[in-house]
Amino acid sequence: MYLDHNASTPVHPRVLELYLKVSQEVAANPSSLHRPGRRAQGILEQARERIGHCLQLPAKEILFTGGATEGNNIALFGAVRAMASLHGTPIRMLASAAEHPAVLGALRLLQQEGHPLRLLPLDRHGRVQSSALGEALAEEVPTVLALQWANNETGAIQDFSPWLETTRSDLHLHVDAVQGFGKLPWPAFFQEAPTFVGSGHKFRGPKGFGFLRVADFAFLQPMIGGGGQQGGLRPGTESPAGALATALALELAFEEQASFERQSAATAQAFLKALEQAGVSFESNHPPLGEGLPNTLNLSFPGIDGRKLLPACDAEDLALSSGSACASGSAQASPVLLASGVSEALARASLRISFGWQQGPEEGRAAGRTLTKILQRIYQN
Ligand code: PLP
Repeated sequence: MYLDHNASTPVHPRVLELYLKVSQEVAANPSSLHRPGRRAQGILEQARERIGHCLQLPAKEILFTGGATEGNNIALFGAVRAMASLHGTPIRMLASAAEHPAVLGALRLLQQEGHPLRLLPLDRHGRVQSSALGEALAEEVPTVLALQWANNETGAIQDFSPWLETTRSDLHLHVDAVQGFGKLPWPAFFQEAPTFVGSGHKFRGPKGFGFLRVADFAFLQPMIGGGGQQGGLRPGTESPAGALATALALELAFEEQASFERQSAATAQAFLKALEQAGVSFESNHPPLGEGLPNTLNLSFPGIDGRKLLPACDAEDLALSSGSACASGSAQASPVLLASGVSEALARASLRISFGWQQGPEEGRAAGRTLTKILQRIYQN
């Protein structure tokens, strides 16, 4: 049973069909000036329009990328370097300690260029502490702020209100919006963020395709050089098939968001009930039900040896992810859980369960029962 939809999702059959059709029918490079080239460009622009329409943004503000890691890097390197050349000083970088490595990795590289990085503390469920963010934003220094919409491990939804209350012009907000699409209603205030990213494979699009919003009021320095496509910010030949398939996947994610929210919340509840009925003891690292991503649970199991948990689940065909990554035999605790105040032993003995579009309460119950069996076996040994 596949319970790792925050890591990646199966492609929607209609999306796959469209991807294949466009791949077969459109051979030309969208930058070519001949008729097939212009047709390929037309498909790309149609995809841009359709994504812009979902996000209530002009199509010209949507850039196609090879996924969210690339989009995060283009936005963060672009914003920090552009601001540094404008102000002639290093740029303060603020981010929540729960950011994905696709953001933190970019910020750490920028730190090596001399830009100071400050990670904001988290509450127990992986949400940035609003008071700490408010205080940091009150300081009058040119700042790039990186905040995620929702956390991939705990499902915590970030509170953007301290940013909404600022009126500073020397502040660039970049939102890693990857985990929210299709799971949460689209917050209209993200239109005020100069840059944000999405990634198709998190909402039933093909892997390796994403988008970056670059507002017309955003100021970015190009990070890579090339042929000048997409305003020079993301040069390189675009994929009309990948772009159109991503656009369709996003439309479907928007259309089905409310029903997926209801369905996956019921699935998560059925899963938890199965554990509770079997008397399994666990601690929840996700926010209270109804306050985080509806499809995401993060549980720690006291007294369990974290190194045994994931292999035991894998052996029973439960595909999920752990708060610990096994590197050379030693389980490493999730930095997000540690920063949320979870002890190292509990962080190692934790699982992230993320349900998908094709799963309902029956699958939730079945997964809960299987996990119960696995845990009982580990406790007995
Ligand atoms: N940001 C978040 C919150 C994610 O969950 C992921 C994927 O795991 C990424 C960024 C990276 O996205 P991609 O796989 O498209 O590079």
